[in-house]
Amino acid sequence: MTTYSTKVLIIGSGAAGLTAAIYAARANLKPLLVAGLQPGGQLTLTTDVDNFPGFPEGVQGPELMEQMQAQAERVGAEVIYDIITEADLGKRPFRCVGDSGDVYEGETLIVATGATARWLGIPSETEYRGFGVSACATCDAFFFRGKDVAIIGGGNTAVEEAIFLTNHAKSVTLVHRRDALRAERVMQEHLFANPKIKVVWDSVPEEILGDGEPKAVNGLRVKNVKTGALTDIPAEGVFVAIGHTPNTQLFKGVLDTDAEGYLVTKPDSTATNVPGVFAAGDVQDRIFRQAVTAAGTGCMAAIEADHFLVAHGAEI
Ligand code: NDP
Repeated sequence: MTTYSTKVLIIGSGAAGLTAAIYAARANLKPLLVAGLQPGGQLTLTTDVDNFPGFPEGVQGPELMEQMQAQAERVGAEVIYDIITEADLGKRPFRCVGDSGDVYEGETLIVATGATARWLGIPSETEYRGFGVSACATCDAFFFRGKDVAIIGGGNTAVEEAIFLTNHAKSVTLVHRRDALRAERVMQEHLFANPKIKVVWDSVPEEILGDGEPKAVNGLRVKNVKTGALTDIPAEGVFVAIGHTPNTQLFKGVLDTDAEGYLVTKPDSTATNVPGVFAAGDVQDRIFRQAVTAAGTGCMAAIEADHFLVAHGAEI
């Protein structure tokens, strides 16, 4: 078991965590970043990122994250591959324990643990997860070349993934529980213009249908919420794209959260209710959830951690 000590401990290696690491390293704070379950965060699950400034031709999500990490390490941040399983924020230095058994102590802590894809919660979804049911079209679309697939959700993720799926699938049926999409208008226009995509409105999944050995999905039964009518949609793949849950379980009862579990930060700040603990990125952002806003709050958290250390007399 190794004990690491740092002035700025960062949990999470998405856009928020890595930007915090860049800023803290450039403030000579020698930050230590624990990468977590999914190094690089949600952007590693996406393909084209067209809205991160500075890339006129767009950039691939995984490449963007590799670049951010390389930049953080070049300016002096240390990135460790471990998963924090315990966090004691009762006194400073804050003490976190990793899955490896190693201990991480931070005079300040930046929580950038992000958010994770949400599931429908119907039994057949669990039964067929990995056998045709997926929450990541960009990861799994390839397996559905020439097949019929369905996707559930009406936000930017569902629309973006529906369009992406048409690169592989024969047809894509998007199922949405209302009669209007939440996604940005320009993305909706692309969706409606795509001849491979059909939208089923006002409908919720009842059951994922399947059979065979090894088991495989062959359809999605949906219920119209207005009429109660049941319809079976032929589909060999069912993609769930209904939003995300913030990764705040570690801090339950210690850091304040809102009703949906997102960490609450002070206005115009990344400060949480525990002095010296800051939160950045999707874990505290239920509204924007963009790479660039995550990076922005990561920057804020590092600057605020620096100010906190100065105010508390840490010898820098
Ligand atoms: P959102 O929360 O925006 O959308 C979730 C969608 O799933 C909604 O349409 C919602 O319906 C539906 N939904 C939620 N729960 C259920 C359920 N139990 N059953 C059926 N449907 C359900 O999540 P996204 O992942 O789409 O987007 C998250 C954030 O990331 C957003 O801010 C989005 O703008 C951003 N994003 C941006 C992209 C880009 O700019 N390129 C790409 C992808 C995401 P309802 O509408 O009725 O609430």
